[in-house]
Amino acid sequence: MKKKSRKYIFVVGGVISGVGKGITASSIGKILQAHGYSVTAIKIDPYVNVDAGTMNPTEHGEVFVLNDGDETDQDMGNYERFLGMSLSRDNYMTTGRVYLSVIEKERALAYNGRCVQVVPHIPYEVIERIERAGEKANAEVVVIEVGGTVGEYENILFLETARMMKIKNPADVLFAIVSYLPTPTTVGEMKTKPTQHAVRALNSAAIQPDFIIARSNTPIDTKRKEKLALFCNVTPESVISAPDVESVYDVPINFEKDDLGEKILKKLGLKSHGRNGRWHEWEGFVRKVHRAKDTVRIAIVGKYFDTGDFMFADSYVSIIEAIKYSAYHAGKKPELVWLSATEFEGKKSSLAELKKFDGILVPGGFGSRGVEGKLAVIRYAREHKIPYFGICYGMQLAVIEYARNVLGFKDANSREIDPKSKHIVIDIMEGQKENIEKGNLGGSMRLGAYEAKLKKGTIARGAYGVDTIIERHRHRFEVALEYVEALEAKGLVFSGCSPDGTLMEIAELPKSEHPFFLGTQFHPEFQARPLDPHKLFSAFVKAAIERKKKR
Ligand code: GLN
Repeated sequence: MKKKSRKYIFVVGGVISGVGKGITASSIGKILQAHGYSVTAIKIDPYVNVDAGTMNPTEHGEVFVLNDGDETDQDMGNYERFLGMSLSRDNYMTTGRVYLSVIEKERALAYNGRCVQVVPHIPYEVIERIERAGEKANAEVVVIEVGGTVGEYENILFLETARMMKIKNPADVLFAIVSYLPTPTTVGEMKTKPTQHAVRALNSAAIQPDFIIARSNTPIDTKRKEKLALFCNVTPESVISAPDVESVYDVPINFEKDDLGEKILKKLGLKSHGRNGRWHEWEGFVRKVHRAKDTVRIAIVGKYFDTGDFMFADSYVSIIEAIKYSAYHAGKKPELVWLSATEFEGKKSSLAELKKFDGILVPGGFGSRGVEGKLAVIRYAREHKIPYFGICYGMQLAVIEYARNVLGFKDANSREIDPKSKHIVIDIMEGQKENIEKGNLGGSMRLGAYEAKLKKGTIARGAYGVDTIIERHRHRFEVALEYVEALEAKGLVFSGCSPDGTLMEIAELPKSEHPFFLGTQFHPEFQARPLDPHKLFSAFVKAAIERKKKR
């Protein structure tokens, strides 16, 4: 029997960025899964950075870490969450990464003396990577999101790659352009012209879109669908309405209202196997999102606010989503409030404001800005028995706070913040000192999935329900072993450790002391999924709900 060929769907953007290409790509994957196909997703980022690890979250949003330690774009998180699967470094590439491997191959004489050219060798490398990702995942359909918008200089080589793939196997490659249709207040009418221009720009890369995903405030009407069809060379049925929705998890459901799944399959010459059980579970989850009325209030105390609330949400997207899943599954509507850590520095009065929250979370971070504010918040949460969840930096700072205020080591600190402190309770990891000295700072933290053993009778062990866990990491510092005994003698419990017992992965206070005071050296948020909320987040949210009941 002839092996069925693998299909590729390219998702590109038009008009403006930030209209949800990542969510569209994730949703397309989701609905194809719903129709019974195995799917994988690839993100192509046009910047020259080799990975997202060297970029400031205020500029680029969260750095999403994969199991294999790759530091990637937050859209990879969307794919994992929507598709309910873990991806690998094969699923992520940047201009920098592609050029780097071409240059390395050239240095190894892998091109056999040929002249290595931007075209075709860069597109060839991209094609190889796309095909490898499809192969490794054994996917029937590969969804590829090309970052940026059409008409930009940056992503032109990736469009050229897509064109080459199409011309080689026309029946196996599809294009969807996610475009924006503004409704200027002065005109009061939805305008199609910018999208027409975007499609022309795509045409000039010799690519004809198969679908236009029409992003707008309100659903697009028939008149405008017809107009776009006429001027963009598509049928009106290929213009898919994509209005703003309450939750991103509505997007696949909305697409299915326009039968996008069936339409894509038809164009690819595939049959629908009918929507399956996982799809109904998704619908069930979305119903919970809409039904939840009663709130649970969680404060997130961070520092990446520089560009306002919007950027904040982008900097901590996985944490925000993880809280949402646990809250919705508990029938609650999460009310997330972001507080700037620096606000709490020196101003004792504002700490009392924290009483209004059902739970407090301190996420990961780097450097000294805002640290004293976070420490004050953690102390308040501990002393006032407000459920506290510290992630990575949030765990390290909880240990510092405990060392200062319970053990009495007033100058306790992390080497990252104060290397002169007499009580370095958080120290640099083995091998990391060398990395820093040599300026080897890209992709060199302790990254990705590692195993940890859980201690019986602890909150962590109770929440997970198993003895061994695997979680993703991203850090250079860790709890200093020489302080573990002293900290434990005063009541702090290290409930999760690396299998050899040298790395403290979870710190907590016993339930008799505090309803929920727990920090993890790893990032549990990267493995939280809408249909499978993370157990530690659920335990934290549960404690927050209990507090609300008592207040
Ligand atoms: N800055 C700390 C470290 O490198 C924490 C990192 C984080 O929160 N991701 O160990």
